[in-house]
Amino acid sequence: MEQIVKVAVPRPIWNTYDYLYTGKGPCPEIGARVKVPLGYSRATGVVIDLPSKSTFALKPLGQVIDKEALLPPDLIELAQWMSEYYHYPLGSVYETMLPSAARKGHSTDFVLDRLWKVTANADLTQLSRAHKQRELFELIRDQGPLTDSQIREREIPKARIDTLLEKGLIEEIERPDEVISVTRPDLTLTPEQNEAVRSICDSAGEFKTFLLDGVTGSGKTEVYLQVIEKVLDRGQQALILVPEISLTPQTTRRFDQRFGKVKTLHSMVPDVQRFQIWYETATGRNPILVGTRSAVFTPFKDLGVIIVDEEHDTSFKQMDTLRYSARDVALIRAQRLNVPCVLGSATPSLETLVNVERGRFKSLRLSHRPGTAEMPTMHIQDMRAHPISGGICEPLLERMESHVAKDGQVLILINRRGFLPSYFCTNCGWKALCTDCDAKLVYHEQPYRILQCHKCTKEYQVAETCPECGKESLVGTGTGTQRIETTLRQRFPDVPIFRVDRDNIRTHRKLTALFTELAKAERGILIGTQMLAKGHHFPNVTMVAVIGADGGFLSTDFRGPERTAQLIVQVAGRAGRAERRGEVWIQTFDPDNPDLEVLVRSGYEGFARNESHIRRSAGMPPYQHMALLRADGTNPETTQAFIVNLMSKVEKLGIETLGPILAPVARISKRYRYQGALMSNNRSALHAVLKQIRQERTGHHSIRWSIDVDPVDLY
Ligand code: ADP
Ligand code: ZN
Ligand code: ZN
Repeated sequence: MEQIVKVAVPRPIWNTYDYLYTGKGPCPEIGARVKVPLGYSRATGVVIDLPSKSTFALKPLGQVIDKEALLPPDLIELAQWMSEYYHYPLGSVYETMLPSAARKGHSTDFVLDRLWKVTANADLTQLSRAHKQRELFELIRDQGPLTDSQIREREIPKARIDTLLEKGLIEEIERPDEVISVTRPDLTLTPEQNEAVRSICDSAGEFKTFLLDGVTGSGKTEVYLQVIEKVLDRGQQALILVPEISLTPQTTRRFDQRFGKVKTLHSMVPDVQRFQIWYETATGRNPILVGTRSAVFTPFKDLGVIIVDEEHDTSFKQMDTLRYSARDVALIRAQRLNVPCVLGSATPSLETLVNVERGRFKSLRLSHRPGTAEMPTMHIQDMRAHPISGGICEPLLERMESHVAKDGQVLILINRRGFLPSYFCTNCGWKALCTDCDAKLVYHEQPYRILQCHKCTKEYQVAETCPECGKESLVGTGTGTQRIETTLRQRFPDVPIFRVDRDNIRTHRKLTALFTELAKAERGILIGTQMLAKGHHFPNVTMVAVIGADGGFLSTDFRGPERTAQLIVQVAGRAGRAERRGEVWIQTFDPDNPDLEVLVRSGYEGFARNESHIRRSAGMPPYQHMALLRADGTNPETTQAFIVNLMSKVEKLGIETLGPILAPVARISKRYRYQGALMSNNRSALHAVLKQIRQERTGHHSIRWSIDVDPVDLY
C-alpha cells in the first residue's frame, strides 16, 4: 500500500516532513516511531499525521519501528500544544518527551513480567493426565496471582505457562487494581482529610484542580495515598510528580508500604529501564508511577488522577532547552484526559493562589497536624548587638547547647556551599573573581583548599600573597556550610555533626545513609543547604536555625521574596514533628525587614497576601503574563545589538517590554548574557507576538537565543 506519512523529526527546525510509505504490511499509526532519511543522515521521528495530499517531493520512509502507536493521541496533542505554548519546534518537543532509549530507536519488545491468574470456570478435565500442568494450575489458583519471575523461581519451565494459557486455564492480568494489594495503617482521617479525599474522589472523571494546602506534617501524603487507593479501586492508574531532590527512598517508602513496590522515574534510573517503566505504564501494567519533572510525559492506559507534590518547587520548571513547567503541563494533561489534578504544598506559589482566588482551583485546607504534634514557633534573632564567632551568634549557640543537652537535634540551614563566600585583599581591595564569569570565588577547605567559581565550577589555587599589591593581606568573609561546620565542631566536640551540601553528598544513597545514621543518633547537629528543606522528615529535630537566608528578600529577582519565604517555612516544617514542639530561629542583621517581619508574625499565608498586593500593583506575574527573551554570545556588542533589535520588533508589535538589560550574572563561561521581558495581561496577544519572532535568526553563529514562557528564574 501507499500512504503519505507526516513526521516530526528531532531537529531544531520549524518544519515537519512528509514521506511515502510503500511497505507490504499496514501503514504505521499516528504516534509510532519511524526511521527517516534527513539530509545525509537518518533520524528517528514520530508519525504525527497521515495526510491525503502533500506538497513535498516525497522520499520513501525508512524502517517502521513501532507496529502500533507508541504515543497515544493525548500525547500527540500535548506535543502540539507545547510547541505552540513554549514556542519550541515540534520535533524537539518530542525529543524532550520521549525517554532517551525510545529516542534512539530502542524497540518495545521488552520481556515483560506477566502476571497470571486462573480463569473462572476453568475446565480441569483437560489436565486429568497432565500432572505437572495441574500442579502449576493449583499453584496459581492457591497462591496467585503469580508473575513469570515468581514461577521461574520455582524452576517451572515457561512452556508450561504457555500450555495452560493455550488451554484457556489461566489468563494474564493487566488491570492495575488486580496487581496491587493495599496495606492501610491503623489511623482515622481527620475531618479535613476526609473532606479532601471526598472532594477529590467526587470529581472522578472530570477535570478539576485542587490545591491541598496544609503545613508540613498535616497529612497531605495520607490524603494522596487514600485518593490513589480509590483510583485503583476503579481500575485506573495514578501519576505522582515530586520535586527532584525529594525522590529519595524516604519518600518512596511511604508508597511502597501502602501499595507494594511502586515504580519510580527519575534521572538515576538507567535509560532502558526507564523506557520499560514508561512502556509498562502505557500498556496499563503499571498502576502507580512516582516521578520527577519529565514523568509528566508518560503515557497511561487509563489515568485516574495526577498529583503534584510541593507544587511551588522550582525543579518542576526545566531551565534549559524546552523550558516547560511540569506543574502546568500536568494541568493541561489532566484537562485533556478529564481527570482531577491535585497540587499539594505547605507554601503554595502565588500563581496557584491567584487561581484559587479567581475560583479556578478549589482550595482544600489541612489546618493542623493530626494528633498531638504541634507546629514550631518562629523567632527572629537580631545579631547586630552580639559577638559572632564563626558565623553563628552567641545566643543561638547557647540555645543549641540547651537543645542538645536534652537529647534534641538541631538543624541549621545555610544556603551557601563552601567556607567563605568572598576572598579579598585588605590592603588594596583586590577581589578574587572568576576569569570567565562575573562571579566572586568561594573559598573551600574541603575536600581540599581551593577557590571555586559556583557559576562555572572552575577552580583556582589559593594564593598566599595578593596578586595585585604583593602583600600577605588576603582574607575571606561571609559564611558557608563548611565554616559553620568548623565552628560547631569546636564548640560541640562530642556531638555528632553532619553536613549536607552538593560538595559532600552527591547521591541519594549517600543522603539516605546519612539520614539513617542521624535517626539512630539521639543528639546531633545537621548543617546544610536547601537540600535539607525538601521532603525529609527529622522526627528528633527540636530546633531549626536559619542563617543568612533573609538576604534573599532583597534579591533583584522579583520572585526572590517568595522563594525565600518558602525556603524558611519549608525548613521550619522539619522541626518538632514528633512529641516535642520545635522552635525556629532566624538569624539576621536586618530584623526590621518588612517581609521577614510579616512572615514571622502572620505566617506564609499573611506573607503571600502581602506579596500578592505588591505584585499586583507592580504589574508583575501572576497578575500579568510574562515571557523572557534571553541571548548570550562571546561578543558583548553583537549580542547586545541582536537583543536590542529583537526587543524593538516586539515593541512595534504592540507588546509592553522591560529591558533589554544585562542579566543579573552578566557573564558566565566567557559568554555575555542579556535578557528582555515581554509583559501582557492578554495571553493570546503575547503568544501572537512570540510566534512572529520565534524564527528570528541571530545573524551570528556565536549568539544563541531562547524564549522562556512563564520564567521562574531571572538569573
Ligand atoms: P505531609 O505530607 O503533609 O507532610 P504526612 O501525610 O506525611 O504529612 O503526615 C505526617 C505524619 O502524620 C505521618 O507520619 C502520617 O502517617 C501521620 N498521619 C497523617 N494523617 C494522620 C491521621 N489522620 N491520624 C494519625 N496520623 C496521621
Ligand atoms: Zn592587595
Ligand atoms: Zn566561573
